[in-house]
Amino acid sequence: MALPIVASSTFHLPGDPDGSHFYGRNGNPTVEQVEAEIGILEGGEAILFPSGMAAIASVFYAHLRPGDTVLVHSDGYYNVRALLEAQFVPMGVKVKTCPTTEFVSADMTGCKMVMIETPSNPGLAVCDIAAVAARAKAAGALLVADNTTATAICQQPLDLGADIVVMSDTKAMAGHSDVLAGHVATRHSALMDPIRTWRRLAGAIVSPFDAYLLHRGIATLELRLSRANDNAMTAAEALRTHPAVRAVNYPGLTNDPSHETAKRQMRGFGPVVSFTLESREKAEKFIENSELIVSATSFGGVHASAECRIRWGDAVPEGFVRLACGIEPVSDFVTSLTRALDSVG
Ligand code: PLP
Repeated sequence: MALPIVASSTFHLPGDPDGSHFYGRNGNPTVEQVEAEIGILEGGEAILFPSGMAAIASVFYAHLRPGDTVLVHSDGYYNVRALLEAQFVPMGVKVKTCPTTEFVSADMTGCKMVMIETPSNPGLAVCDIAAVAARAKAAGALLVADNTTATAICQQPLDLGADIVVMSDTKAMAGHSDVLAGHVATRHSALMDPIRTWRRLAGAIVSPFDAYLLHRGIATLELRLSRANDNAMTAAEALRTHPAVRAVNYPGLTNDPSHETAKRQMRGFGPVVSFTLESREKAEKFIENSELIVSATSFGGVHASAECRIRWGDAVPEGFVRLACGIEPVSDFVTSLTRALDSVG
């Protein structure tokens, strides 16, 4: 029952190369088994990478060429734009940006690729994936959806018309803050083939040990997310009514501007909540005073964590906190959260 870890980088290979198991960069049985599991979750073919950024990079390197235009989120994970600016703009790719909520009406004329992230990190803005997919298709653009904050458990972008899904499996998929990984999924082999070739040639290969850890995390993904989503929903409700809190972003809140769209396309609203306190000083104090929330970046792990996103240069207020909910008992978690909020009053 347990998945064997095949550590070999070199396999027995008499005569001419045959199949994929002859050298670790071409294929590994452990990695392929985990890819098959992820493919079932995504409803498509999936391949693994050693990080979420490697997965995203593979899509850009395989599908963008000088002269192409890519329309990318302006409020999603900042390193995606940093990658485009550092590597693709100098080689003649034009990069346009758009806030998550405006993709539904964005001008996609002439775009080769459109990349959304919904809910976005860290602002948790949502866009209507099916509507954006229809718009991208009409413009002849590929729609790439970063599904990291939701995961396939809460949202299925391929069903909603996205051409390619990218994920940081470092987050909820692996779920224990002990492995970096990512994947790309699609239903179109013509889109996957160049991505697979890029991976082999660039050597962006996940290790069989990390694939095993990911496999182990996936076994409890639905259970963990179910608790983390409950923690996020309960925390968002508590934040909404607390006098120290100026604003809360969570698609599960009925008064959140993204709620109606999120309700249509998501089966759970995800483990991340963001909110704003009066100042960075108060935000740091909140994190420091929380018994159950560690001060750390990332999300999707079993323990709650939080951070001030201004430290990464995100376009957010000074007192903006990204709260990553874990799988703590809901009442303990919310009691501790409220106590820490009271302490910064
Ligand atoms: N996409 C999103 C939405 C993220 O939040 C992150 C990391 O925080 C990434 C991609 C990159 O993933 P990784 O850190 O695994 O490279």
